[in-house]
Amino acid sequence: MATAERDYYDVLGVRRDAGDAEIKKAFRRLARELHPDVSEAPDAQERFREAVEAYEVLSKTETRELYDRFGHAGLRSGGFRPTTFDFGSLADIFSAFFGEDLLSSRMRAGARGADVAADVEIELVEAATGTTRQVPYRATVPCAHCEATGVEPGTEVATCPTCNGMGRIQHVSRSAFGEFIRTQGCRDCGGTGRLVRHPCNECKGSGHQLQERRLDVEIPPGIHDGQRIRLSGEGHSGALGGRAGDVYVRVRVRRDPRFVREGDDIFSTVDLTMTQAALGARVEIPTLDGETELEFAPGTQPGEVVVLRGRGMPVLQGFGRGDQRVLVNVAVPRRLNDEQRDLLERFEQTAAEDTYKTDEGFFEKLKSAFR
Ligand SMILES: [Zn+2]
Ligand SMILES: [Zn+2]
Repeated sequence: MATAERDYYDVLGVRRDAGDAEIKKAFRRLARELHPDVSEAPDAQERFREAVEAYEVLSKTETRELYDRFGHAGLRSGGFRPTTFDFGSLADIFSAFFGEDLLSSRMRAGARGADVAADVEIELVEAATGTTRQVPYRATVPCAHCEATGVEPGTEVATCPTCNGMGRIQHVSRSAFGEFIRTQGCRDCGGTGRLVRHPCNECKGSGHQLQERRLDVEIPPGIHDGQRIRLSGEGHSGALGGRAGDVYVRVRVRRDPRFVREGDDIFSTVDLTMTQAALGARVEIPTLDGETELEFAPGTQPGEVVVLRGRGMPVLQGFGRGDQRVLVNVAVPRRLNDEQRDLLERFEQTAAEDTYKTDEGFFEKLKSAFR
């Protein structure tokens, strides 16, 4: 089913009077960006199909006219059907549209396979210790049935008459400035020079098959959200002896509501009650290594920061760890019963200037907490 009838000009991002060259350029740009092997956007595959369809219509005079005058309905009644294709044959699509130059074509002997993007999500505490995750992804492998030729074994292959087996066509144009030779991939044979009468039953002629794969990916301690891990040679297979592409695993580090990460440091807050702050208290606080008990001295002030050296995130591919900074918040009672009010009023009467006087060196202490 085609996409919900988006305007083809909008899809390609061109004006309605755009020329052929402009349309082609817009499509190339989109195709590069949305190529499902490259793009990480979840809707890349759908948008790519949409772009191919828009390009198919707008790049041909007949279909473009039909569309301009009667829209999607006109195309349908005119018998237009978007080409259906599977992503195993992307290289063929590209060579059909552009010759071989857009992405390195997998049809060429020895061409390197394309890269694959995959995602994995871990918790912040896992990022602190490092972890191993099984990452599922799909990559093409050479078709074993046809030995990657795309031809059903035992059947004949004809030489493409359009290009005489060259896979490309030369256009010679003469002008006042001389002769121009332009080489283009042959559309009839997709640049292969062959016409396969019986495509391989297993891979439908593409020469490769998509395979579900899983890889154990080691995620190093200290990894940051959005960083990518490259797994060399685990991507799409190369064509005819070319080396396989790579897999890029993007690591998403989930937010932990208890901590805020800043570089290798971790920030957290602790709530002391008014009396805990005044009398001193031992309080459990969360750290990346689990709960730990912190001792707060009598007279602890709101806004004080306790620094736990070396309790932050590990330095990625380095030594040591950042710090954890615990910000003290003091909770003031919001509702008092009669007895409590009475107690506090009595306390207030006994309080003197000295009760609230800042220690010598308090600001020094505060400053050192911020380094
Ligand atoms: Zn095959
Ligand atoms: Zn040909």
